[in-house]
Amino acid sequence: MNSGTNLPTPAHTATRRQESVALATREHDVMLRAQGLHKTFRLHAQGGAAIPALDGVDLTVRRGECVALVGPSGSGKSTLLRCLYGNYLVGEGRIEIRHDDGHAARWVDLTTASAREVLSVRRTTLGYVSQFLRVIPRVSTLDIVAEPLRRLGYDDGDAAGRARDLLDRLNIPERLWSLAPATFSGGEQQRINIARGLIAAAPVLLLDEPTASLDAQNRAVVAQLIAEARTAGSAIVGIFHDEATRDEVASRTLTMRPVLRPAH
Ligand code: ADP
Ligand code: MG
Repeated sequence: MNSGTNLPTPAHTATRRQESVALATREHDVMLRAQGLHKTFRLHAQGGAAIPALDGVDLTVRRGECVALVGPSGSGKSTLLRCLYGNYLVGEGRIEIRHDDGHAARWVDLTTASAREVLSVRRTTLGYVSQFLRVIPRVSTLDIVAEPLRRLGYDDGDAAGRARDLLDRLNIPERLWSLAPATFSGGEQQRINIARGLIAAAPVLLLDEPTASLDAQNRAVVAQLIAEARTAGSAIVGIFHDEATRDEVASRTLTMRPVLRPAH
């Protein structure tokens, strides 16, 4: 049979059509679109020395994906994550997030958005799980974990129920739930931070070494929670401390390299 340069048969055409439908669907699934990101730190206290950290990073993340940032220390992983949260300004580039504020979905470019818009995006669309819990004095563990759901308008009882479920799965003893976590161990605080960061299943989720100080059992629970967030449709970008967790939770990797050329 001739399989050479003939015009496409109907079968080929059908395949192409399916592909373009699939592409369109996937386009609709894009939640985060970062293009041409450059970032250079200026050390004003040291004669204005310039330290290039990002040199043209592109990244697109769809619902249900988890992209792991990999690369040696100093390759810009943490810087990229902070830029994606709008914490660091970029020198060049765009960071677009598909934001639904409850009225309509639209693209918001964090590099040009007002402070108010960035806050709105963070309230309903963009979550960030840092490495350390920011302890709020006198607020109980249960309230710290439930708070993001309450802020979204969930009923108190539902928010507390989901918080209890997460704390239980993360092996935080029930006797600690009514206490403020200021005196808890590093590992306990990190698990509370993860529970708080994952409770609202943000549509776009940034994870900065969420398992760094956990034992194997709790690491496995966190990996499971991340898998559940993906299934629920979160688009995730993360830095993962250990390769085993990364292999388990990530659908692909973005390899970063230290910027070698001098900053301009
Ligand atoms: P990674 O997380 O991959 O280890 P970083 O994003 O922390 O890399 O750092 C990338 C580069 O930017 C490094 O050269 C680092 O020294 C520099 N850098 C990071 N944060 C700052 C900062 N706040 N001020 C100045 N330089 C920084
Ligand atoms: Mg880092």
